[in-house]
Amino acid sequence: MRNAALDPAALAAELIRRPSVTPTDAGAQAVVAAALEGLGFVCRPLAFGEGADRVHNLYARRGTAGPNLCFAGHTDVVPVGARHAWAFDPFAGAIRDGELCGRGAVDMKGAIAAFMTAAQRYLERRNDAGCGSISLLITGDEEGAAVNGTKKVLEWLAERGEIFDACVVGEPTSAECLGDMIKIGRRGSLTGRLTAHGVQGHTAYPHLADNAAHRLVAMLHALTTTELDQGSEHFQPSTLQVSTIDIANPASNVIPASAEAVFNIRFNDRWTGATLKHWLAERLDKVGGNYTLDVTVSGESFLFPPGAVAERLAEAIRRVTGRTPEFSTTGGTSDARFIQAFCPVAEFGLVGQTMHKVDERVALADLVVLTEIYDTFLGLFFDSP
Ligand SMILES: [Zn+2]
Repeated sequence: MRNAALDPAALAAELIRRPSVTPTDAGAQAVVAAALEGLGFVCRPLAFGEGADRVHNLYARRGTAGPNLCFAGHTDVVPVGARHAWAFDPFAGAIRDGELCGRGAVDMKGAIAAFMTAAQRYLERRNDAGCGSISLLITGDEEGAAVNGTKKVLEWLAERGEIFDACVVGEPTSAECLGDMIKIGRRGSLTGRLTAHGVQGHTAYPHLADNAAHRLVAMLHALTTTELDQGSEHFQPSTLQVSTIDIANPASNVIPASAEAVFNIRFNDRWTGATLKHWLAERLDKVGGNYTLDVTVSGESFLFPPGAVAERLAEAIRRVTGRTPEFSTTGGTSDARFIQAFCPVAEFGLVGQTMHKVDERVALADLVVLTEIYDTFLGLFFDSP
């Protein structure tokens, strides 16, 4: 018996109507699971974490043979912000002027719907001949802390000896038009919390004090006026940006005893979190004085030279759109940073121009074309030697 044909716009609209702001699921993954079960996938809901940190994830697989191609994505979305600023209800999933509107339309409920539709078409065409498995790893914690999401599911799979041979992450990687960009790596991200410690005093008697604000300014000057690098073959130059400076001193005649700043470094493959820590300490020590620096590395940089996944994605894009995508490593981090430790990975999805913004929306035509691209990619991956 044939299943009713999935429609990427209708499916994405169903998902948008589940207001799954991280870490809430709101029934979004049940929509995915129901459709996949109809296609013969075995679905495993996997919840990790306790209380407010509890995160819903879903692992679905069709077939038991290798190779196992995984599509990875997330059903969680970022908050809508000021609701009155939206021109439409962000969770209604309405269609206006040829666009599907709502939070998650491009990041990334639209891509999940497109991939599921593509999988159905490919499987029907293949008619259960051929070999290999298709799987989906869907998390509800990509936009948040990402602690109980993809990382935990990968660990769970590894414990069972289940591996992916390749993975496509459906993040909105296209820049201007669908198919112009595939991501083959990502920069790393390091956040530093710097506190300069001094001695409080009267501004009229600075010789009796040690101004922490002045020390902090000198330290930030040292960090922001030194070039980290000039980029590498596949990466832009690494950058350091100060996010905030806080002293919270209400009195103009008091020299502050401490001053704090937070900065974020997006770094390429010339660095690791460890070498950056060393670089930071060297520069800050040169300025001198008492300070503390807390560093968090939320992801190391990684690069997957174009191979089995990216090359076939590029070929699928060429066949469907006539475009040749650029292989890029720009943008923020994604769950690909966890997956790349297990198998080759590339990221490809919708045009990201409205992601995380007010009035997020996707052209219906793009959902149709993305479905065709994923469908063509599946054929190239499984059926071409
Ligand atoms: Zn995303």
